[in-house]
Amino acid sequence: MESPIRVTIWNEYRHEKTDAEARRVYPQGLHSFIGEFLAKAGYEITLAALDDPEQGLPEAVLNRTDVLIWWGHTAHAEVSDTLVEKIKNRVYAQGMGFLALHSAHASKPFCAIVGTSGRLLWGDGQKEIVWNLAPAHPIAKGVPEHFVLPEEEMYGEPFLIPQPDALVFASWFEHGNLFRSGCCFQRGLGKVFYFQPGHETCRSFYDENVQKILINAVKWSAPQEDFSKRGFEACPYREKLL
Ligand code: ZN
Repeated sequence: MESPIRVTIWNEYRHEKTDAEARRVYPQGLHSFIGEFLAKAGYEITLAALDDPEQGLPEAVLNRTDVLIWWGHTAHAEVSDTLVEKIKNRVYAQGMGFLALHSAHASKPFCAIVGTSGRLLWGDGQKEIVWNLAPAHPIAKGVPEHFVLPEEEMYGEPFLIPQPDALVFASWFEHGNLFRSGCCFQRGLGKVFYFQPGHETCRSFYDENVQKILINAVKWSAPQEDFSKRGFEACPYREKLL
């Protein structure tokens, strides 16, 4: 049997400790909630939080992560630049998948990996309709034409990202804004997916379609081989070039 995809779910994990509403929705933290449904899908889960030793990602953990999921909001600036560089390098050079959720649009690793300021329009909680723009894309497998999230924090265009390699989902918010809510990027050897739903006091991670999308995104972004075993030594032209 193939070994399971190793997923590390990194959560800033501050709101759930300080905000009663966030704690009510995700009592053990949204990372552990996400971890539960991803574990049921057969993935090997590691949970990490900003206040853990080495900000949750010592090299031993990072280097055995196939897909890193990132949720941060108020403490982006506290994430060390050295760690961000290691994460970026693991994506670019070793093909680690990187899934940025919701307010991770402005996180240091997402901005560094994708090359963006992460700026967007922002608003209050509204009904959101997520439209499936690419039913043939692996991340959209089994996802209906559209689904409704009764309340989610409005993110609107313009979203100052480079043009995504694939736009899988776009969202409509009830006050009229549109947003590219599911974007894929190839960066070096690594695959990156940004997904907008997931505000800390909304119940989007309970939604079966959101869960399906994240399950699919893990599978899609996991590296196809252990690229760390490759190196310049493996270049077939090396001998001729030298
Ligand atoms: Zn939010």
